[in-house]
Amino acid sequence: MANEDVAAFRARFREWVAGALPETWRDLTRGTPEEVLLPARRAWGERLHAGGWAGAGWPPAYGGLGLTVEHQVALVEEQVRAGAPEPLNSNGVEIFGPVLIRYGSEAQKLRYLPPMLAHRELWCQGFSEPQAGSDLAGLRTRAIPDGDGWLVRGQKVWTTYAHCADHCYLLVRTDPDAPRHAGISMMILDMDQPGVSVRPLRNIAGSSEFNEVFLDDARIEAGQLVGDLGQGWELAAYALSVERGLSFAERALKVAREFERLLDMVDGLASEDPGRGAERFAERLVDAFVRTRTLHALVVEIIDRSARGEPLGSLPSVAKLHWSESHQELLRLGLDVLGQRVGDPEHQDWVRAFLFSRGETIYGGTSEIQRNVIAKGLGLPSGRAA
Ligand SMILES: Cc1cc2nc3c(=O)[nH]c(=O)nc-3n(C[C@H](O)[C@H](O)[C@H](O)COP(=O)(O)OP(=O)(O)OC[C@H]3O[C@@H](n4cnc5c(N)ncnc54)[C@H](O)[C@@H]3O)c2cc1C
Repeated sequence: MANEDVAAFRARFREWVAGALPETWRDLTRGTPEEVLLPARRAWGERLHAGGWAGAGWPPAYGGLGLTVEHQVALVEEQVRAGAPEPLNSNGVEIFGPVLIRYGSEAQKLRYLPPMLAHRELWCQGFSEPQAGSDLAGLRTRAIPDGDGWLVRGQKVWTTYAHCADHCYLLVRTDPDAPRHAGISMMILDMDQPGVSVRPLRNIAGSSEFNEVFLDDARIEAGQLVGDLGQGWELAAYALSVERGLSFAERALKVAREFERLLDMVDGLASEDPGRGAERFAERLVDAFVRTRTLHALVVEIIDRSARGEPLGSLPSVAKLHWSESHQELLRLGLDVLGQRVGDPEHQDWVRAFLFSRGETIYGGTSEIQRNVIAKGLGLPSGRAA
């Protein structure tokens, strides 16, 4: 597969997607009700795996395909083109999977990677705490040695999909006396045990994707420490860097599809009320198109540089900032185009997608933090002491 001509590989995957992706799973957005979205995302992840298309960048020893970056990009582009949903376990497969591949023990890789890829076991990320978000190194959740393993006490928050996850890759403080960054470790927490309570939080779009997670002497076994004790900060930084990889590219490239949908919406509304046509919104539509094209160019540059092993500098922060702010603006433009039709039932997924997008300038590093990173890269002072 890795030796196959990229164009032929792309054509083969396109044909497979055409047969494997039901119409009802196409073009779902973050505004699609979760009782529809989550099962479709899980089933798409399972189907990709069953079809032999999952784990594109993973080594074959752990169920992956070991493909080149060009082949991986073809997979992403074809899924975006077909309007396929993001696989539900992308937090595991795209973020923690690469961490485990780089830092995990052989036993951990064999135990956790295959069921992760198959979507048999779902994962969540336990980093943020009530007092530690942007300032992640301030985290207080403690792992206290107990026999061969640890007991974990503390609280996590905003933990996406904790309510359906089997495992969590968790940052904990293992040495309260060490300097902040040095006292942190990464561990695997089994979610289904007495010391773990998950309380869903309702977001502004009305769904309950993220949660509070209370840890009250939850048990972690010796074999569930990832990397070395005190190495957690390095692993977390690696996790955050891969978070900007191909799964981000998929999200960013999807904006172009939403732009097409916006144009359709403008056409549809203009046929009912000529006053709401493209003329009225032309300037903002042109701006949105330019932003969409710039985003595409940024993503291509990141992929290209990564493939050549060139340093990315602050480019991932530029792309995250540009994606999240452009996406919010595109969805807001849709609301303005809808005008009084904003309450119509057929437009509610657009409205919910707009509401959900408010979080996009927060998760994965807020816009202010991205600007700080870019400022640092330019040798400028940042907004606040980091
Ligand atoms: C939809 C969504 C899903 C999420 N999923 C997860 C998840 O699965 N797992 C997980 O661990 N976390 C998750 N998070 C949490 C996310 O990572 C944090 O919300 C984020 O890091 C910001 O932290 P905070 O909320 O504590 O805000 P704070 O860090 O308290 O920031 C508050 C405000 O101050 C600003 N600020 C803070 N520090 C600086 C600075 N140095 N310079 C300038 N401005 C600054 C921020 O930009 C922000 O505007 C999710 C968040 C959202 C919205």
